[in-house]
Amino acid sequence: MTSTLFENADILDGRANGAIHGHVLVEDGAIKEVSDTPITAASARRIDLRGRTLMPGLIDAHVHVIASMVNLGQNAMLPDALIAFRAAGIMNAMLMRGFTTIRDLGGATQGLRMARDEAHFEAPRMVICGKAISSTGGHSDARGRLDMRDNAWVEGRLGCLGRIADGVDAMRRACREEIKAGADFIKIMANGGVASPTDPIAFLGYSRDEMLAAVEEASLAQTYVAAHLYTDQAIARAVECGVLSLEHCNLIEEATARKAAMAGAIACPTLVTYEALRNEGASLGLPAASVAKIDDVRLAGLGSLEKMQRAGLTMAFGTDLLGEMHRHQSEEFVIRGRVLPAIEVIRSTTIHAAKLLRMEGRIGVVAPGAFADLIVVEGDPLSDLALLTHQGQHMPAIMQAGRFVKDQL
Ligand SMILES: [Zn+2]
Repeated sequence: MTSTLFENADILDGRANGAIHGHVLVEDGAIKEVSDTPITAASARRIDLRGRTLMPGLIDAHVHVIASMVNLGQNAMLPDALIAFRAAGIMNAMLMRGFTTIRDLGGATQGLRMARDEAHFEAPRMVICGKAISSTGGHSDARGRLDMRDNAWVEGRLGCLGRIADGVDAMRRACREEIKAGADFIKIMANGGVASPTDPIAFLGYSRDEMLAAVEEASLAQTYVAAHLYTDQAIARAVECGVLSLEHCNLIEEATARKAAMAGAIACPTLVTYEALRNEGASLGLPAASVAKIDDVRLAGLGSLEKMQRAGLTMAFGTDLLGEMHRHQSEEFVIRGRVLPAIEVIRSTTIHAAKLLRMEGRIGVVAPGAFADLIVVEGDPLSDLALLTHQGQHMPAIMQAGRFVKDQL
């Protein structure tokens, strides 16, 4: 097995308040040694990284790899084979932006992950929830008001990112089916949404009993529930029911953020998607009913970051982009940098995201025993977060499991 020795790197993973100068030995797909003094490894390829930053591969904790179109109702109609190939392309582009791990919040399947693991295409590590679970008329019900068809016929399709479950028993069954099919965690829609036709943002989606059932089912399988959430009321209810992964959170208030922090929850804001939807949504086919809802959540975005930061609520990095907008993925760093210290933004995509994915110590750190998922950045991202944008242009190297997927060194 090949080994690689990175020398004289500024190592930045967010565990300290800045970069640490040192040397990193990669062997057999893992990080073998990290040292502030030179490492001897006779057979290793030596790479001098003076003036460059070595970071763990980035983690995006909220994506939808099967969302190949902005109009999710139309996306669900596309043939599975087309969706699969498009998803492979979407994931490959994520990897080439430096994201070596993604958590999919609705749509990615065990089959896609097997195809990735069999190396039919190069893509980030995948943490998946299968289909997101929604109430009738909730955020993954793409049927319009006049569409009275049963939803089941569309739920088997790869391009459909959610399924419907109403009532405690149906919720339990849906959770068990997703876990059986390979879900690493459960995703529920516990608030109205932008990209769905009949649920204003303030709608609460699920009763407490239904949410408690999902949380119990997840805990039986030794995992957790992530919930789609915007309003303060919806977030507070979800936290009370034991939901630990709080998606979006645009309209959170500080007291609820404190309560969430106390409960050990982690928030996963996704501000870039609202900017992209506002700028490009209508022209890319977002229905008018959805366009009208964008600013209900977009305008509160930056303020929500400040509230969560003040409340001590841990935030992971997420993007939630759809279709052609995926290319904006890395702009989330710059958006957050407008109100948060750069080191906090870095932590969101390294240690905080690793914690949310329950993969602490294996991803998001440059430390012995972690996967050798690494990126090299020209310059210092702490002084310019935009170095992480531009489709990986400022990343001369991207390594996954010890193997370069990009190597311009
Ligand atoms: Zn989402």
